[in-house]
Amino acid sequence: MESKKKSIRNVGILAHVDAGKTTLTEHLLYRSGAIRRLGDVDKGTTQSDSIDVEKERGISVRLSHVSLDWDGMLYNLIDTPGHVDFSADVEYSLRAIDGAIILVSAVEGVQAHTTSLLKAVHELGLPAIVFINKIDRAGADVEAVLEELRKEIPLPFVPMQVAEGEGLGGVSVHSLDEESSRMQYPEVWDQCQELVAEMDEELLEKYFEQGELQFEEFRAALIQSTKKAKAIPVLMGAAKLDLGMEELMDCVGHFLPEPVGEEKEALSAVVYKVEPDKVMGKVASVRVFQGMLKNRMSVWNATQGLEEKITRITKGYNQCIEVCDELGPGEVGLLTGLSEVHTGDVLGAELFSNGSCQMDTPLLTVRVEPRGDKDYPVLAEALQVLNAENPMLNLKWLKGEKELHIQVMGKIQVEILEKILETRFGIESNFTQPSVIYKETPVCSGEGYERYTMPKPCWAVVKFRIEPGERGSGVVFESRVSVNDIARKYQHEVERTIPKALEQGIKGWEVTDLKITLTEGEDHVMHSRPGDFCVATPMGVMNGLVNTDTKLLEPILNFRIVAARDLLGTIAGDLTRMRARFANPEFYQDNFILKGEVPLATSMDYSIQFNSRTGGKGKFMTSFSGYQDCPQGEGECREYRGISPLDRSKWILKARKAIQE
Ligand code: GDP
Ligand code: MG
Repeated sequence: MESKKKSIRNVGILAHVDAGKTTLTEHLLYRSGAIRRLGDVDKGTTQSDSIDVEKERGISVRLSHVSLDWDGMLYNLIDTPGHVDFSADVEYSLRAIDGAIILVSAVEGVQAHTTSLLKAVHELGLPAIVFINKIDRAGADVEAVLEELRKEIPLPFVPMQVAEGEGLGGVSVHSLDEESSRMQYPEVWDQCQELVAEMDEELLEKYFEQGELQFEEFRAALIQSTKKAKAIPVLMGAAKLDLGMEELMDCVGHFLPEPVGEEKEALSAVVYKVEPDKVMGKVASVRVFQGMLKNRMSVWNATQGLEEKITRITKGYNQCIEVCDELGPGEVGLLTGLSEVHTGDVLGAELFSNGSCQMDTPLLTVRVEPRGDKDYPVLAEALQVLNAENPMLNLKWLKGEKELHIQVMGKIQVEILEKILETRFGIESNFTQPSVIYKETPVCSGEGYERYTMPKPCWAVVKFRIEPGERGSGVVFESRVSVNDIARKYQHEVERTIPKALEQGIKGWEVTDLKITLTEGEDHVMHSRPGDFCVATPMGVMNGLVNTDTKLLEPILNFRIVAARDLLGTIAGDLTRMRARFANPEFYQDNFILKGEVPLATSMDYSIQFNSRTGGKGKFMTSFSGYQDCPQGEGECREYRGISPLDRSKWILKARKAIQE
């Protein structure tokens, strides 16, 4: 196979669950000739949903992408999970692609997850095409979807087609490529021209002078803007009916960019998925940006700071997996042999990936317990595997207390994790009720002091000034101590230990939005040993926090509600009870739109109540806004987990043992 010479398109299909992603993928594969028989999601016979396809061929890894040929090009459709709670994975996948197809259902419209995806794509400057699916289903409304899209991000969404007979089985799609369609739907064509002309002064002038653009110049301008992520073309159809598939495939080839990057440059690649495999150990899905990955080569994992050897490279083509010697710029493939690799790791040089954006932050914490005591080590091991696949779980294993804590984004993720533990690892587990992750911050300025000089040999004296910072400012550290008092290498120890020291404050939560200044201190030429300042710093910082006292910060969500006008009073009442703040409602047809902020703690379960209030017809969309002061009497403190630096003698003993280890 000579796919390397072909022009490549690495594309992600991003969608809300049920929008039709699997169906669409299946039809694209079928259209391209990669598969000969069409599968059906409703019968469980599609390519991307049947985990065992590769097993039949004696290789047990699962492809994380499907490849197909179209018009002399190679398309890699890179897998992205659909559920909101798995946005961490979506974000990693976004780093691996050059363009996206955003799939929206013409009936359900823009969902909360679609909004997150649109925003992420916009923030990353990722070129995208929207495909409005299911235009055959009753209730399909392309115009309404376009309007919703336009409210979400400030980019021109330019329809390239017009649907006729929406919501009916016999629906058809007319492409503006055809002159007859432009004549038949002059208002749509005018609107498209305006949208595109507005982006380019020269074109705008032409448009006003001539009254109309040549279709070719319109298309060329739109292609250019799309590649620069300044406009989004919109296509439509019905995957299930095989309607609009060819136009979509053509659009991917013409409107989405080809990868750039040279073979001879230094290697840069991103791992966008890690899966366990019984035979091969870990299998890492990787996208190469520049340079070459070769079999048996030792690669530098820039994220972990270690080197590992690749023992096998495979790639997919026409739904088969083949072993190969190398992967070049723009290619995707699977690597085995990297036992320490995590999802999101960068291999080789950092420079060339699409960059990362924080889409969703885990705001809830849960404790996982095995049903039986003997399962505890197996459970810990399984969670470590899952944590490697999705580092946002941020697994904390308190070995002394035999406790396992993870962070999640929602309750559905908990259910899914429970299922995964059972089906994949055969472990029955209990998850505690998720609780909100609070943070804490100093109430006022103060000082912290620690004189760690006993029992000998040791010597580390530190004094910190702690001051409250602005919301969202994070942690700022500064040293005002001369290297004559504390040698540079020990000052580095202090600085390196600060984040660890702030992981739990006096209320049991991460401490943030503060400035810490090392104001005084001393080392000792003979007695100070490496690590002494790592032991002393958390004690000094905690002592400071006791003096400044701390207050809780709570996560706040931005929300947007759309619901029927007559429910405004009821819903506003709910919101007030939840301590929400909101502006005056806007009215749109029979609906009101309400935007504001609400604490996560009070609104965690609201979507269920909201759905029953609106009979499922309203929308309650949220996104993380930031941490704000938690009113007195609200919020929860928690016990310090593990040994606290305030428990001085135990802390010193434990820390010394850790250093000797
Ligand atoms: P996914 O969750 O995004 O992968 O969506 P699926 O491909 O599994 O589709 C969800 C449901 O929508 C299935 O029952 C499909 O048969 C159905 N579906 C997908 N595309 C269309 C379409 O174009 N028209 C209609 N009427 N149904 C569709
Ligand atoms: Mg699916």
